[in-house]
Amino acid sequence: MNYKNPDEHGYYGEFGGAFIPEMLYPNVEELQKNYLEIIESEDFQTEYQDLLKNYVGRATPLYFAKNLSKKYNTQIYLKREDLNHTGAHKINNALGQVLLAKRLGKTRIIAETGAGQHGVATATACALLGLECIVYMGEIDIQRQAPNVARMKMLGAEVIAATSGSKTLKDAVNEALRDWINNPVTTHYVIGSVVGPHPFPDLVARFQSIISKEIKEQLKEKIGRENPDYVIACVGGGSNAAGTFYHFVEEKEVKIIAAEAGGLGVNSGKSAATTFLGTLGVLHGSKSLVMQTADGQVIEPHSISAGLDYPGIGPFHAHLFQEKRAEFFSINDDEALKCAFELTKLEGIIPALESSHALAVLDKKKFKENDVVVICLSGRGDKDMETYLKNL
Ligand SMILES: *Cc1c(COP(=O)(O)O)cnc(C)c1O
Repeated sequence: MNYKNPDEHGYYGEFGGAFIPEMLYPNVEELQKNYLEIIESEDFQTEYQDLLKNYVGRATPLYFAKNLSKKYNTQIYLKREDLNHTGAHKINNALGQVLLAKRLGKTRIIAETGAGQHGVATATACALLGLECIVYMGEIDIQRQAPNVARMKMLGAEVIAATSGSKTLKDAVNEALRDWINNPVTTHYVIGSVVGPHPFPDLVARFQSIISKEIKEQLKEKIGRENPDYVIACVGGGSNAAGTFYHFVEEKEVKIIAAEAGGLGVNSGKSAATTFLGTLGVLHGSKSLVMQTADGQVIEPHSISAGLDYPGIGPFHAHLFQEKRAEFFSINDDEALKCAFELTKLEGIIPALESSHALAVLDKKKFKENDVVVICLSGRGDKDMETYLKNL
């Protein structure tokens, strides 16, 4: 079984593919034909790796969390993606895709963003590499995420409000797709997670796979073996998790755990736990598990963390779920909050609310004293201070 990469049509088992309007065929086919050759070329890798090291600040530390380990009586290592430039893993992908776009001769970048994190990462990459940047964002999200909107503007991006539908992420995606159809020659669409039509899930997973590549090297140095007993990450669309799992999915002895946002509870009607609630469907260009009604209407998700507030899941993860290669936990808002405060108190690290969902697995599952448990700390908590203050 190959879990890591899709087949030539972009399928992971029965999930994936490219379900797009005909008008997008030329854009997507151009990417499908060229992405692997470009990103695997020596020239590309030299520039990308140099930026990851000297601009993003990689390798990020693999930190042995002594106090947390003591509390849970197991060996916990945190992969510190929160220490990346711009404060999360998203920059790994944004930089990679903007470099790819340049090599495809594009001069203009579009992106969609919900909470603004992916918009900020993309605007950062465009400022650095000198490309025009347009970010589509729901009108409601623009109001809710003012600090990130300010960052994008200062970085030189144009933020365009999506004013149709619920005025949130899915409407921003529609606007971005419309733009891409109208500007196929000049423009690349930077998708922010392992979602979308083939080749985006594979493209994004490859850019994020640096996370597990480094974990292997760092564990080898620290404990003399490359493989931990467990890797744990939170899943919104699934990009930090895909990066954390990538080089371990074919290693049978490594157990894989994904944490989804349970919201107020999986049966509360206010949840984003896609593997528990989803059924087979097509969302944003690929076949996967989707939270939808019997007649295929997408159900509004809910999570306290904007980054996990998504009604789907990448096909890579849907496949791991279906094959039982990964174990999925749904973590409720209050459980994630508790773990954010706990990590802050025990280790002096304020995590993103998204990452706190991964930490909360420590309360759900019993690990052995000698188990080596690696948790991806996908981002820092600065952006969540308003929520934390309300719950202090
Ligand atoms: C966006 C975000 C996520 C969720 O996105 P994935 O693609 O599932 O990784 C998780 N953590 C942080 C800090 C984020 O900004």
